[in-house]
Amino acid sequence: MTVYEALKIYKDRGLPELEAYLVIKKITGKTKEYLVAHPEYQFCEQSFFDLLNKRLVGFPLSYLLNEKSFYKHNFYVEEGVLIPRPETELLVENALKVIDKEKIKKVAEIGVGSGAVIISILLETNCVGFGTDISKKALEIAKKNARKFRVIDRLDLRLGKFLEPFKNEYDEIELIVSNPPYVKNNSNLQKEVMFEPKEALFGGEDGLDFYREFLSSYDLNGKIVVMEIGHDQGDFFRKKDWNVIKDYSGNDRIVIKDFRR
Ligand code: SAM
Ligand code: GLN
Repeated sequence: MTVYEALKIYKDRGLPELEAYLVIKKITGKTKEYLVAHPEYQFCEQSFFDLLNKRLVGFPLSYLLNEKSFYKHNFYVEEGVLIPRPETELLVENALKVIDKEKIKKVAEIGVGSGAVIISILLETNCVGFGTDISKKALEIAKKNARKFRVIDRLDLRLGKFLEPFKNEYDEIELIVSNPPYVKNNSNLQKEVMFEPKEALFGGEDGLDFYREFLSSYDLNGKIVVMEIGHDQGDFFRKKDWNVIKDYSGNDRIVIKDFRR
């Protein structure tokens, strides 16, 4: 089939033209500029329909393209790992402010997923990172990204809950960041989100299970903690005297607490 035919089919299904170019680019390896200039260029029809059909049932574009742009970089992603969200860039920004202001050298992230958060932090600083995840797949992808961005020598990634894999290093950790699963179990999610790993999203009946377990299991004295939260979870933290920061949509999104004093 030709580029011109593929674009028409894509648009007839109500999907955006820009996306069609990305999909054809993935199949052919040609640049968008080339495809725009050569609408008669022929490529594999079967591959096109395979990808189109996945999109029509809601399979996320980032999984098809194996990439997601986050903060300043393009991270490798695939099915089995959470696709980093734009609102999570605010977690990176706030962590960076703390690192700069408090001259932090050692940062831990709980639940690294693709590694987008901790790798973005390491790329902006000289910090050393410790990352955990309960998903083997996530750790594998995070390692792949750490190699891609050449921070593997500054990032120790280990399988396990919370900071259990770093018991021996725990005292050295100065800053803990996390974007944990915080969606309420019974939430109705968009069909695209249903293709993402459940353990990355759901946080119990009120979505707060992760925070409760973390806060009751760790002695945070001497550390600073920065975490992402759901838009309706700010009060849980305000009551505990945390600083709650809103995102660009005006929703509660980031919580910070300094446990050093
Ligand atoms: N940090 C990535 C990001 O922001 O794109 C992924 C965040 S995703 C919302 C949460 C991640 O935490 C998932 O990869 C999940 O497997 C992991 N996770 C869930 N509970 C955990 C726990 N108790 N300890 C460590 N990791 C956990
Ligand atoms: N904001 C994500 C969503 O809408 C949830 C991310 C999370 O649970 N940390 O699906």
